[in-house]
Amino acid sequence: MPEIQPVPLPPLGAEEISTACDYCVVGCSYRVWRWKVGAGGTANTAVPWANPSQHNIVQWQGEPHHVLVLPDPQARAVNPLGNHSMRGGTLAQKCYNPENKTRERLTTPLLRVRGELQPVSWDTALDIMAAVSKHVLKNHGEHAWGVKAYSYQYFENTYAITRLALDAIGTPAFAPHDKCANGNDAAGLDDAGLEAFAPAYEDWGACDVLFMSGTDPFETKSTLFTSWIMRGGAPNKTLIFATPHRSMGVAWAEQRGGLWLPVIPGTDTLLHNAIARVIVERGWQDQAFIEHWVAKRWEVDQGYGRGTRNTPWQWRTTWGTWQSDWEDFRQFLMSRDEHRLEHAARITGVSAR
Ligand code: SF4
Repeated sequence: MPEIQPVPLPPLGAEEISTACDYCVVGCSYRVWRWKVGAGGTANTAVPWANPSQHNIVQWQGEPHHVLVLPDPQARAVNPLGNHSMRGGTLAQKCYNPENKTRERLTTPLLRVRGELQPVSWDTALDIMAAVSKHVLKNHGEHAWGVKAYSYQYFENTYAITRLALDAIGTPAFAPHDKCANGNDAAGLDDAGLEAFAPAYEDWGACDVLFMSGTDPFETKSTLFTSWIMRGGAPNKTLIFATPHRSMGVAWAEQRGGLWLPVIPGTDTLLHNAIARVIVERGWQDQAFIEHWVAKRWEVDQGYGRGTRNTPWQWRTTWGTWQSDWEDFRQFLMSRDEHRLEHAARITGVSAR
């Protein structure tokens, strides 16, 4: 077994830096302590206890430095008192250190030459990309030039590639890492004129019923689940999951009277529509909310369904061809046979009872 090294405490006066976890969109608050290897001084015993996964040695200004990366014990807003997930709890491990596994990280572009990937300089890689791009644009047009871009973390990481694709080249074939196109995160809600990411974390905690489809936030947004959904203003809320797996969040929900709809992968849209049809058949929808907030026919036709506002109008405004308003949606729900509960149950695997 490898010997476990004790985690050093930073000396008094070590640099203290505020940052955020970049492993998921929750954005938990973290603090980093950084000090030169070999620096003496009195240990700062006020720093929270750190485990070996929260320590690393990095190069900083050409010299080796210790770093401790710890969830912020002072946090109030997102991850109160330094709550965090295992992912965030090991952030220090991803800092580049040639003495550990991070040495495998790519440090130059790679070019496949006669079947073998070979390191090349950034100048070479950019020259090749420019030459191939010019060839594609000249012979096939901008629709044939596409890019799939990493889109997490900070604006600075995405600005250049976004400008290149959408401004300089002007291609619609541009997609962030988690989507098949440069579309909205929840296109249906956005087209209806509702902001998909409007809820504050307090709202997740204060709701009476939470319906989660295709995800278990305990796994994907752990702090949102453990700090807000499990607690918050209404800790006894009812959780409903539509997921293929009985995950940890599902188990927790079921213990508290929640519901698990074990949907067959790929059939969740039908499940949503079947549930929506039952709601509409029984008149359970909040009609006043719909009348007030959901985009009207004219707004939809004009491209004013508010989700289209950030998208070039010529890509989205279809003069009513496929966008919809509330009445269209209601007719769609009621007219399709597959939205009937019995029919949907056969396809989705979720019992109609
Ligand atoms: S929930 Fe976990 S992965 Fe997400 S930001 Fe917080 S610590 Fe990072």
